[in-house]
Amino acid sequence: SKLPSVSSNIKKIVDPKFSLDNETLKEVMVKFEREIKKGLKRSTHSSAETKCFVTFVQDLPNGTERGKFLALDLGGTNFRVLLIHLKGEEDYEFQSKIFAIPQNIMTGLGVELFDHIAKCLAEFAIEMNIQHEVLPLGFTFSFPCRQNGLTEGLLIKWTKGFNCKGVVNQNVVELLEDALKRRNDIKILICAILNDTTGTLMSCAWKHHDCKIGVILGTGSNACYLERTTNAELFEKQNKFDDEKVVINTEWGAFGDFGSLDFITTCYDKEVDHHSLNPGNQIFEKMLSGMYLGELVRLVLVHLTSQGHLFNGQISKQLSTQHQFFTKFVSEIETEAEDSINVVRKVLIDLGINEPSDEDCVNVRYVCESVTRRSAHLVATALATLILRMGDPDITIGVDGSVYRHHPKFDDLMTKKVKELIPSNYRFKFVLSEDGSGRGAALVAAVASRQV
Ligand code: ADP
Repeated sequence: SKLPSVSSNIKKIVDPKFSLDNETLKEVMVKFEREIKKGLKRSTHSSAETKCFVTFVQDLPNGTERGKFLALDLGGTNFRVLLIHLKGEEDYEFQSKIFAIPQNIMTGLGVELFDHIAKCLAEFAIEMNIQHEVLPLGFTFSFPCRQNGLTEGLLIKWTKGFNCKGVVNQNVVELLEDALKRRNDIKILICAILNDTTGTLMSCAWKHHDCKIGVILGTGSNACYLERTTNAELFEKQNKFDDEKVVINTEWGAFGDFGSLDFITTCYDKEVDHHSLNPGNQIFEKMLSGMYLGELVRLVLVHLTSQGHLFNGQISKQLSTQHQFFTKFVSEIETEAEDSINVVRKVLIDLGINEPSDEDCVNVRYVCESVTRRSAHLVATALATLILRMGDPDITIGVDGSVYRHHPKFDDLMTKKVKELIPSNYRFKFVLSEDGSGRGAALVAAVASRQV
């Protein structure tokens, strides 16, 4: 039997809020470009939404990197130590171990955190039988940092449940070095501190030498790209050459924090922000990343139900509870074939809606599609801006994160929209970047130790 079509009542409410035409997206591009420029300039940096931190990474891997490297990954879901052996063009092996960070350490003294990290590193080195070698290490530290060099990162603020005393404004590389000195049983050369976007870019660039943008679409969202050093005013360097580049960490999640996106944010975006742990911060990120997509869908469903457009006007307890509509449900619902509604029906029943009608199911899927589409189009808009800014007619974009990895249509939606927003002589492609936080860190260390 044929499915009902999406109700016009639903479209009337959802479309004006979530479908952004190209004219509007081009306005977003202008504002994004303006914020990027402000972030790069000394005089406007502090008032910029996108801070555009200089990473001090200038050289990308060229595939000839070889040898054994260590990597630390702190700031994702797990704390990991990795040993990576780059063996040949695209050929590498790695071993890794996940260590717990006890709650009392996450919110204790900084010294104790770094002693703990050093201890895990030593344990791992002994287990791998490399304790007598001096291996270069790349430290993926995914918290906002102001860098003054490849091995100097001052923590700006803790996020994601960490709150260790005595670390804000300190150089975390030095804190780790001090902890290693206190132990005196392993020798390690810390070559670089980086965040996950730089790792993603490097990891992708190892194989795709024209990779010039790294994007994260996971819990949060961020991107880095290759900028001319002459444009990066905060990159202090004696002589800058015309063709010289440096990787810039845009921190684009904060785009909109001072009002740039007010002209497109919806009542649902405001509600997500209002009930978040960091109201007023990360506005762009809250419109599109994995931590918020499901919640946006849920808020739309609650609103539509209250207007009598869904579920006979009856919401369930689960659906009225914050965060109960997981982003992975959005992926699952949109993975199902157009002419079937078994997945969406099951999700709704599991969320306490007893007998969703066929029409409810079709409408809920439409809400998911609308929220996803806006998310992908906003990412595409920011990427189109960066592509035009770089002016390079042929690039690869490395992407990592569960939203990109698992959502069935995200790649396609982004690709089509970027194409519409840039001239047709520009070529670009998206590549899933494998393990940027691990392999990317090793590659930064490899490229950095090439020079010492
Ligand atoms: P992180 O960004 O923390 O390193 P991930 O890239 O795995 O880790 O992103 C986690 C986020 O991805 C969570 O917010 C979660 O809601 C979302 N997520 C998990 N599974 C899926 C999925 N199947 N489809 C879309 N998003 C997902």
